[in-house]
Amino acid sequence: MKSTDFRHVNYLWDDNAANQLDAVERLRYRSNILGVDQRITNTGGGNTSSKIRMTDPLSGEEVDVLWVKGSGGDLRTSTRANFASLYMDKFLSLENIYNKADVKGVKTEIEDSMVDTYRHATFGLNPATGSIDTPLHGLIPFRHVDHMHPISAIAIAASKDQEGLTQEVFGGEVGWVHWQRPGFDLGLVMREELRKNPNLKGLIMGQHGLINWADDDKACYELTLSLIERAALYIEQHDKGENTFGGQKYESLNEKTRNEILIKLLPVLRGKVSQTNRFIGTVQVTENVLQFVNSVDAPRLAEIGTSCPDHFLRTKIKPLYVDWDPQAESVESLLQKLESGLVQYRSDYASYYEACKHPNSPAMRDPNPTVILIPGLGLIAWGKNKSESRVTAEFYSLAIEVMRSSEAISEYQGLPRQEAFDIEYWLLEEAKLKRMPPEKEMARNAVVVIGAGSGIGKATAHRIAKEGAHVICADLSESTAQETADELIKMYGLGIGVAGTGISGCGPAIGLGVDITNRESIKRLLESVILAYGGVDNIIITAGIFVPPDKQGYIPDDKWALTYAINVTGPYLVADEAKRIWQAQVLKTSLVITTSANGAVAKQGSVAYDTSKAAANHMVRELAIELAPLVRVNGLAPATVVEGSSMFPRERVTSSLSKYNIEFDESESTESLRGKLALFYAQRTLTKSPITLADQAEIAYLLSSSKFSKTTGQIISVDGGLHEAFLR
Ligand SMILES: [Zn+2]
Repeated sequence: MKSTDFRHVNYLWDDNAANQLDAVERLRYRSNILGVDQRITNTGGGNTSSKIRMTDPLSGEEVDVLWVKGSGGDLRTSTRANFASLYMDKFLSLENIYNKADVKGVKTEIEDSMVDTYRHATFGLNPATGSIDTPLHGLIPFRHVDHMHPISAIAIAASKDQEGLTQEVFGGEVGWVHWQRPGFDLGLVMREELRKNPNLKGLIMGQHGLINWADDDKACYELTLSLIERAALYIEQHDKGENTFGGQKYESLNEKTRNEILIKLLPVLRGKVSQTNRFIGTVQVTENVLQFVNSVDAPRLAEIGTSCPDHFLRTKIKPLYVDWDPQAESVESLLQKLESGLVQYRSDYASYYEACKHPNSPAMRDPNPTVILIPGLGLIAWGKNKSESRVTAEFYSLAIEVMRSSEAISEYQGLPRQEAFDIEYWLLEEAKLKRMPPEKEMARNAVVVIGAGSGIGKATAHRIAKEGAHVICADLSESTAQETADELIKMYGLGIGVAGTGISGCGPAIGLGVDITNRESIKRLLESVILAYGGVDNIIITAGIFVPPDKQGYIPDDKWALTYAINVTGPYLVADEAKRIWQAQVLKTSLVITTSANGAVAKQGSVAYDTSKAAANHMVRELAIELAPLVRVNGLAPATVVEGSSMFPRERVTSSLSKYNIEFDESESTESLRGKLALFYAQRTLTKSPITLADQAEIAYLLSSSKFSKTTGQIISVDGGLHEAFLR
């Protein structure tokens, strides 16, 4: 096939790029251009390999080295470091160990234990470890192997008459193996197929995907694409058009109505699925998702669950489908149906666990669904973080395409329940979960920082992101809020998973504008947070204003009003708007309001600011009572943070330095002048140390964290120790 013949996959091979690379980099290149197309494989799914002649550092001789995508990598984003390297002769000799076992074959003890032996065959001190799919690559006697999860190939593999369809579509060029859990035995099964029929170019793997091979890497890439293209063409010729999924039963809602319902629905739903573990949501509303959720066949197909084990591990045994008529029924009835649907789902999950468990199976995991399907609205996916929930949404969207294709050419079949269970509760999977580092303190939380564009707010956004929080950076200045969010995304990455509609396609941080003196503006902010992450957890408010009086000590009325609007009414409005969401969510959380040491210390010339902060201090106590027991409310009372503070512009710093007779040079940088003033202020405190943004951010984080889970209604001063500010 010519490169222009491909209509169902993107042909991306470029000789100019590939020919400049060494053999391992060519494998990385091939992997990246395969992984970039979701029709070829899903995020994190599939693997590639090349058997490369290399000089053995131990003997100086030329040896064959198997380079294969290692455990946990993703083809699209893989670098050289994601590939394991194994001496081919050592790898092949492992078959002796396998054969010596008394009991061998799929799901035997020896099969699982083979995974640990691959490391002994490592070439060149490479720390990347081979995955369970390594034997699929090592045992096939061709130089290059691609194993993909293409929609069109899984559609054949998940059809009732998959073997006959394989023959019909590929005319004997591609063989077929029945479903088998990946491992050493599956590698042997495939090698045997190839021995029986040496002309095979690849295999359809029952319920799973495609594997194919060639002795040239570009030829292998082109073969992968052409096989997928052929399957896709065959499916296209059989497309059922309007009768897909038995035709449409319900109509989609327009975007405005849909968002209004989602804003009401998501916090309630999040609370209900998060009773064991807190989840972050992703909303996926594409044409293909809507066509599925609105269809006649959606309830039947949803019940069957997904097929490809990669899809299945994220989407669970099945999604929760709610039969709700978006045109005729109310949101209240949807909520009721979701409630009873969840009860049924958990009970079905427990029955599935009981029916399929083995004596040594790990304990039952969270019985809540990770995918919820609602006619008219779309798909809602849940995961431990944004990246995971996007992956889950991506995988179910791909599964919908698999079902559509499979139902066009045959009848769709899921993975048999017991096989699904044996993947989900595989001891190797359990071991992988146990090896994962413990979750960070603020993981699974969507935290809003108001004032995140600068100063304490920006420092706090950075501090909580370090603890795994999803951070909504909000500020009166949307552009500075966005800058902080961009910094966080740069540091922590966007994550993986190609899904999420509108703002729901976001990463671990977003930047939004908000005016806390305006209830509507706050409402819009929180609605965006719900659509982005599925709910709202902690809120930290650092926004504040200090309007200096004029030379006569006079504060105009409008400035007095503005001071109160930002420092007192603003945090109140935020709490009041968030309260509705928190009450719908029923998850424990916290609110931190930044007050000031000036709330306790009376001073000349700042009556508006000082009294507003005193009011804020007392509001902390009032809100702590009002929002209990769901929300802890605490105050952070800083004093004279000069470093990087927008409250200390250069003129204020130089006038203070002059006032205190501190020597300085006009040519010095503002930060250096701020440092001098900070040192002076430090001398007035008990601890004699300058107070930094990091000091404030630390307490804002701690008050929000579980470390302060029994503290509410308190003001914590971070002022270096000002005895005049001691609360009594
Ligand atoms: Zn696979």
